[in-house]
Amino acid sequence: MSHEEISITDMVAQLHASGVREGDVLLVHTSFRAVRPVEEGPTGLIEALTRALGPSGTLVMPSWTGDDNTPFDPAATPASPDLGIVAETFRSLPSVRRGDHPFAFAARGPTAAEIIADPLVLPPHQAGSPVGRVLDCDGRILLLGVHHDANTTLHLAEMLAGVPYRVPHHITVLEDGRPKRIDYLETDHCCALFQQAEDWLKRCGMQTDGVVGHAACRLMRSRDLIETVLPELRRDPWVFIHTAESGCEECAQARASVPE
Ligand SMILES: [Zn+2]
Repeated sequence: MSHEEISITDMVAQLHASGVREGDVLLVHTSFRAVRPVEEGPTGLIEALTRALGPSGTLVMPSWTGDDNTPFDPAATPASPDLGIVAETFRSLPSVRRGDHPFAFAARGPTAAEIIADPLVLPPHQAGSPVGRVLDCDGRILLLGVHHDANTTLHLAEMLAGVPYRVPHHITVLEDGRPKRIDYLETDHCCALFQQAEDWLKRCGMQTDGVVGHAACRLMRSRDLIETVLPELRRDPWVFIHTAESGCEECAQARASVPE
């Protein structure tokens, strides 16, 4: 494996070769560990994405908190460590808008305000949430150095399909200046079986594979993802949940949430 630093200019070319177009609304999930080393680090990658999209494009990244017990402050609360250094760097840039609730996304570009403006909905990733707005805008999804287990739009597909499982979670918000716990139910599980979306998309020619920095990337239209996955979920609402025999504890919780 090469450890040669890749320039911002070369990353822009890689993004275009991977199918990213000027003017796209692009939701990016990324792990910088897979992308590096690149010129100017995480900032350089964000710059390359921004240049590849041009002034008419909108860059979107997840930006939720990983802290369920502290009220969310969009200006100060870090992005969840799971989301990585690029998401954390992006939300900190002065020109980037961030939603004002615990399941915030961050966005920059002409469509940014529309994508992050909705109030909190629970479960978090449904119609009228940032992933729903990316779908509404005919946006695309770039998995950069990550797999479909990081593809949050698959939770939107679960909501649209009406999957039966719901696992208890909580968040903390400010109400009248005081922290208030909100308990809710989410379509949660280990997400490993989200990887099946890769085969479903490829079967229909709806995923473009490429390389950006040193990382493999997968690009798809949000609409294609939803239209490809919904029939699979309607055929089997448990298609993303490991069997009881697999020993997966997270999926066991999802299974236990629905009475036999
Ligand atoms: Zn599982």
